[in-house]
Amino acid sequence: MTVNLLGYSRHELISCCAAWGEKPFRAKQLLRWMHQSGASDFGVMTDISKVLRERLAADATIAGPTVVQDTVAGDGTRKWLMDVGTGNAIETVFIPETSRGTLCISSQAGCALECSFCATGRQGFNRNLGVAEIIGQLWWANQCLGAYDIRNKDDPRAISNVVMMGMGEPLANFDNVVTAMQLMLDDDAYGLSRRRVTLSTSGLVPAMDRLRDACPVALAVSLHAPSDALRDELVPINKKYPIRELLAACVRYIEKAPRDFVTFEYVLLEGVNDSVAQAHELVETVKSVPCKINLIPFNPFPGSGYLRSKAEAVARFREVLNRAGLVATTRKTRGDDIAAACGQLAGQVKDKTHRAERRLHAQAIRGNILSESEVVQ
Ligand code: SAH
Ligand code: SF4
Repeated sequence: MTVNLLGYSRHELISCCAAWGEKPFRAKQLLRWMHQSGASDFGVMTDISKVLRERLAADATIAGPTVVQDTVAGDGTRKWLMDVGTGNAIETVFIPETSRGTLCISSQAGCALECSFCATGRQGFNRNLGVAEIIGQLWWANQCLGAYDIRNKDDPRAISNVVMMGMGEPLANFDNVVTAMQLMLDDDAYGLSRRRVTLSTSGLVPAMDRLRDACPVALAVSLHAPSDALRDELVPINKKYPIRELLAACVRYIEKAPRDFVTFEYVLLEGVNDSVAQAHELVETVKSVPCKINLIPFNPFPGSGYLRSKAEAVARFREVLNRAGLVATTRKTRGDDIAAACGQLAGQVKDKTHRAERRLHAQAIRGNILSESEVVQ
């Protein structure tokens, strides 16, 4: 059977080399060739013996997901649609800024968590991505954007930051995401610092504790509501891990985090969670956690049922937080003309959860109840 070495951790590569009767330093050479030089052909690996290269060519491969579409937005944001087989495709987004370049990576084909305002959640869920499919997004984008040899520290990198904020809930695909992030941090692979890799979660509390021990990168938490009643509605996983437990997990995480704060993401939905009273309530809610708040103007998608808060409402909300001494920033919307902005990623998902059918069914039931009550009246 051919193995795909792109998704192998350093440890797995060492074991593989040992099984082939090779020394552990071969793993380091392989990591560098694959992740720093972007090699997909063993033939170019000139510092590896011809015998081993031939063996690798026979038994192994280096393969990322297949890019099927490459779109550039008016503001320079670039989105790749990548085929991951059996009718599923995921999306990866590169966001260039003056002082940095951020790659937004997907972790699942779809998402099982069904947050009410998210296009990925609306689509349903098919499967977790494998390590090669996760790290393959960075591997591909690096080559595509003309990344230089990472060992030359004087040359600015196209991708300076990675955010696990694409399709899916990264902590629901824990092992594969952690292995991929370890490659991002490995000096023989992408060499990014822990501060420059951010994982965003909707709040899977036990997995947040595991992440803290396994790979404590910068953490963003999708809060979106100041109270359990509203968060239960917007982020249904809140029913399992309510705000109090989530905040306690954030405090525990900070003990090992590369930054001394957690970022709370708060998508502003007109008339739902954007009032001045809710801003005051939010100040009270988060006071036990050293944090920054990132306000995200809602990015619409067809049939979402929500509206983006008006600019004045966003400014008022932010003002309340700032006056209370909280650092609050507003996320700039990027790439929305190509549906590449936060929450708009949809790719293509063969939904196993039959979410669309369930939604139609629920609507039909609501419709029936309504017409029956009309008849009664
Ligand atoms: N599953 C993870 C990471 C992916 S979503 C999470 O939920 O945190 C990345 C961010 O985009 C999250 O904060 C998410 O709540 C936000 N988001 C989802 N839908 C959005 C939308 N339509 N507009 C703006 N932000 C959205
Ligand atoms: Fe999943 Fe995150 Fe979207 Fe919620 S916001 S449905 S957790 S991708």
